Amino acid sequence: MTIQQNFPLLPYNTFGLDVKAEYFAEVGSIADLKAGLRSNIRPVFLLGGGSNVLFTQDVRGLVLQNKLRGIRVVREFKKKVWVAVGGGEVWHEFVLWAVSQGYGGVENMSLIPGTVGASPIQNIGAYGVELKDVFVKLQALHLTNLELKTFNHSDCEFGYRDSVFKRAEKGKWCITSVVFSLTKSPHKLNTSYGDISKTLEANGVENPSIADISQAVIQIRTSKLPDPAKIGNCGSFFKNPETERAVLDNILVTHPQAPHYPLPDGRVKIPAGWLIEQCGWKGKRVGNTGCYERQALVLVNHGGATGEEVKNLAQAIIESVEEKFGVRLEAEVNMV
Ligand SMILES: Cc1cc2nc3c(=O)[nH]c(=O)nc-3n(C[C@H](O)[C@H](O)[C@H](O)COP(=O)(O)OP(=O)(O)OC[C@H]3O[C@@H](n4cnc5c(N)ncnc54)[C@H](O)[C@@H]3O)c2cc1C
Repeated sequence: MTIQQNFPLLPYNTFGLDVKAEYFAEVGSIADLKAGLRSNIRPVFLLGGGSNVLFTQDVRGLVLQNKLRGIRVVREFKKKVWVAVGGGEVWHEFVLWAVSQGYGGVENMSLIPGTVGASPIQNIGAYGVELKDVFVKLQALHLTNLELKTFNHSDCEFGYRDSVFKRAEKGKWCITSVVFSLTKSPHKLNTSYGDISKTLEANGVENPSIADISQAVIQIRTSKLPDPAKIGNCGSFFKNPETERAVLDNILVTHPQAPHYPLPDGRVKIPAGWLIEQCGWKGKRVGNTGCYERQALVLVNHGGATGEEVKNLAQAIIESVEEKFGVRLEAEVNMV
């Protein structure tokens, strides 16, 4: 493991922000990770694929990029398997591996960028499935006392784009591996969400396999979301707000068509993209940044944007949505 100084992070964040890390190292093993932490360079920032971070300035201290690899079946049951995956594995490559082995459960989460180690942090999810639905446990190394600990499902306190690692345990651990529970055939397929069934129909698929669903999700995502290799972005910039029913009732007076989804606790979820679009931001460009023309929830870097510019745009959007609808948006992206 080599620690490099004044290291450019431009290729290491999907927003394409041109910032530097004071110190940077790739860690390919737990021994590497411990060696990096023993350097006593502080603060330490754990980086995966950089697809959910907004660097607003150069990063002080040590950036450790997780490269812990390995995918293996650790327990086999009649109807399912448990698979342990290194935190540095690329999430989508793990999904493709699972599909190729005939293991189900993660196909709806195809093409989500980033690493397996970051997946529990915000309980990633897409097309009706969340990480918590397939999660068994994870192993993490404490950044200060260098001890390994197992976090079971309930320890992670998963919520919508949320976990204990965004709250009480924020910034304290490096997630080194995650164990998933995947199904053997016959699988419980989830095709009801979004455009999945429409896409399967257009593809002439009548009895979909997990591979068909993965393919459909890849097709839908490619058509809707900007490719970070071409236009810098972090996917959804904001969470979909969950509000009291009374807030929605107020909105419905002026916007009877406002989309909303009931939550089990009586509150409602309102799509943040719709709120932002109603405030006129969709497709709007502000300097080198802006709102993506096909999805208002995605903020983009048109080239040469700074993290500060993106943060200011996000703030302007939050204020205008709050003023018009009385709903305060919360960033999904981690600002560094
Ligand atoms: C085009 C696009 C589409 C997206 N679509 C979705 C989607 O559909 N659903 C969804 O949920 N998300 C989506 N995202 C967001 C992103 O893919 C996820 O949040 C992903 O889990 C981030 O992984 P990463 O490795 O890039 O994390 P990074 O961006 O590198 O890090 C994110 C946070 O996790 C911390 N972290 C990273 N690795 C570790 C580790 N091993 N241990 C401890 N802390 C760690 C970092 O310190 C940081 O705070 C999308 C992003 C993009 C660019």
